[in-house]
Amino acid sequence: MSDHPSDIRDVIVVGSGPAGYTAAIYAARAALSPLVFEGSVTAGGALMNTTEVENFPGFRDGIQGPALMDEMRAQAERFGAELVSDDVIEVDLTGPVKTVRTAEGSFAARAVILATGSGYRKLGLPDEERLSGHGVSWCATCDGFFFREQHIAVVGGGDSAVEEATFLSRFGSKVTLIVRRDELRASKIMAQRAFDDPKIEIAWNSAVDTIHGEDKLTGLTLVDTVTGEKRELDATGLFIAIGHDPRSELLTGQVDLDAEGYVLVDHPTTRTNVPGVFACGDLVDHRYRQAITAAGTGCAAALDAERYLADLA
Ligand code: FAD
Repeated sequence: MSDHPSDIRDVIVVGSGPAGYTAAIYAARAALSPLVFEGSVTAGGALMNTTEVENFPGFRDGIQGPALMDEMRAQAERFGAELVSDDVIEVDLTGPVKTVRTAEGSFAARAVILATGSGYRKLGLPDEERLSGHGVSWCATCDGFFFREQHIAVVGGGDSAVEEATFLSRFGSKVTLIVRRDELRASKIMAQRAFDDPKIEIAWNSAVDTIHGEDKLTGLTLVDTVTGEKRELDATGLFIAIGHDPRSELLTGQVDLDAEGYVLVDHPTTRTNVPGVFACGDLVDHRYRQAITAAGTGCAAALDAERYLADLA
């Protein structure tokens, strides 16, 4: 990037989910006046696409995802975080002053916190998005509890799909694992766990053709990937476990990423390989991907940035 803004901030936060807003709350309370780029379309992050969140501590009766994110946003603003609903389209993180560019201009800071999250892969079916939070889910830990004694379908044949299916069999009356091929990609030990579970049935050579339901999921049509034959499945829960992609396109060549594109940090800190650049939330997290863990690492990133800036002084 050629333009160098004259106003150099202490901290810029890129991302607005639980990680970004929590980093903003902590940085603002540490008097670092963070500038937060929230994204133009998806400000608030993944929880904006869900309904009830029952596992975020502090809300004994649960809270709607968008309401939780509104609270976090307002809390960050209350302490003086400056929130901008724009996408960051380019970054230069290498030098002591980092530059972040949006369509509106360039912004500079001594420290940058990356919190752009990750996206769950979708099936690409027309009704998938509409019924998200109404029977269609991407997270068994988050939503399994809502499907007690129901027939649950899980799509995917890898380790995470099998793990979700095994977890969901605690709640559901029956779990159908929908697998495109005639074998599982999951490790042998995981696959055996599914085979041994009396509640899990595997629909081999199958894919979801249609999702049914007006206000909530009422069933699926499956298609045989070999013969093309269709059949109905009376599942009222559908968990899609076909992977997720970290939103790190901007960061290629800027900070170290792992083979799947997650930002590498020096655990247990949030430091990346570039001094003054910190990363948190689902952008670094293969394993937990929960709002509370994202918020936790957002807090850590702000504290790490604060210490980094104090050492510069
Ligand atoms: P995200 O929430 O993904 O937020 C990142 C945000 O950064 C993006 O959405 C966007 O607004 C912004 N952004 C991205 N790129 C840019 C850019 N270039 N410039 C500016 N901004 C950018 N977890 C739970 O604990 N409980 C639940 O009940 C639960 N339910 C869920 C239901 C659904 C449908 C989904 C999808 C997830 C659910 N999760 C739940 C998981 C939880 O939402 C995530 O773990 C959490 O939101 C991750 O937070 P994050 O801040 O890392 O990223």
